[in-house]
Amino acid sequence: MSVLGSAIQAGFDVEQVRAEFPVLRQKVHGKPLVYLDNAATSQKPLAVIDAIRRFYEVDCANIHRGVHELSQRSTAAYEQTRVKAKLFLNARTRNELIFVRGTTEGINLVASSWGRKCVKAGDEIVIGAMEHHSNIVPWQLLCEEKGARLRVIPMNDRGELLMEEYAKLLGPRTRMVAVGHVSNALGTISPVREIIEMAHKAGALTLIDGAQAAPHMKLDVQALDADFYAFSGHKVFGPTGIGILYGKSKLLNAMPPYQGGGDMIRTVTFEKTTYNDLPYKFEAGTPNIAGGIGLGAALDYVNRIGLDKIAAYEHELLLYGTEALSAIPGLRILGTAREKAAVLSFVMEGIHPHDIGTVLDRMGIAVRTGHHCAQPVMDWFGVPATTRASLAFYNTAAEIDALAAGIRKVKEMFS
Ligand code: PMP
Repeated sequence: MSVLGSAIQAGFDVEQVRAEFPVLRQKVHGKPLVYLDNAATSQKPLAVIDAIRRFYEVDCANIHRGVHELSQRSTAAYEQTRVKAKLFLNARTRNELIFVRGTTEGINLVASSWGRKCVKAGDEIVIGAMEHHSNIVPWQLLCEEKGARLRVIPMNDRGELLMEEYAKLLGPRTRMVAVGHVSNALGTISPVREIIEMAHKAGALTLIDGAQAAPHMKLDVQALDADFYAFSGHKVFGPTGIGILYGKSKLLNAMPPYQGGGDMIRTVTFEKTTYNDLPYKFEAGTPNIAGGIGLGAALDYVNRIGLDKIAAYEHELLLYGTEALSAIPGLRILGTAREKAAVLSFVMEGIHPHDIGTVLDRMGIAVRTGHHCAQPVMDWFGVPATTRASLAFYNTAAEIDALAAGIRKVKEMFS
């Protein structure tokens, strides 16, 4: 089936979808923009832009504390997003959803709050070989502070975690297993359900970095039995500076606050402060209200299209792109996992990724070049950087063709 055919069969018209993303309508260096940097951040539909605009134009007020109409409206809209996030992740209660700045802050919150209380010298934290830096460094900081040990599940040359090696790493000292659901550098979809089950059998908790999963697949934290799950609004077609940390309420209840300030308290005296209930205990200070409201609109938007449809269409695009790029002599795709999301990370013999990215940009094609905040992955493959095209459901087969033609042109220029 053609990629266009699969979009139609999936039940959405990709051109109609594109019309809802104003940013895609422009030319860059005189060429139609081909935006293939969705793993870094995705573009925003009008529904999200309008929701943010409406907040500032009509409702703007601080939340939770005001009795006046604008504050009530803002509070209701912001809190509605929490309910939407609950449905999006299939959490048990709205109290299990904490607003954070993004995945990075979600992971830091757990490493800081849970980690300080529960991790001791000699304990072990297990992470995967292809984690984003934001799921490495917070755990390293914790391990340094506590005298704990960071252990890494190795991967094979397709970019898949070695589950037998993982089993060997688990033991009585394992406190936390923190892994990415989908790798931003390679596209690998890791078997998180199995990973979680194995961790639980060993008596460890689990945190799943869902930054790259949330925009591409249907999520269910209860089916996964994840203890913590974090994602970023800006990768799921919402605004920057807002994200969600899910945590099981019994764990969140037992954790100390992450930051102190307004909203997270119940009573304050100079002698003693008592804390607010979940989820507010973890939400100190005025939050990103417009961001939260924009995120709600983004979740509505992806639900309207349907994550199953998105996943099916993107899979077709990935197959099409893999074939198109693999046919280019001298090009090697890094990350060929059997379960893979729509990321095409590649290197080309004798051409530096930054040169590829710069030449493609002159053709209006936006890709990312560099280490993708996953330097250990680059080290594993023995490359300093890759060029990465990361797809979203508004991308088309014609854009993949433009990418492949662009890469062939780069090759001609540098040979
Ligand atoms: N994890 C993964 C897999 C990511 O791709 C990213 C963003 N590139 C992050 C974590 C961090 O997300 P944010 O910068 O939105 O906090």
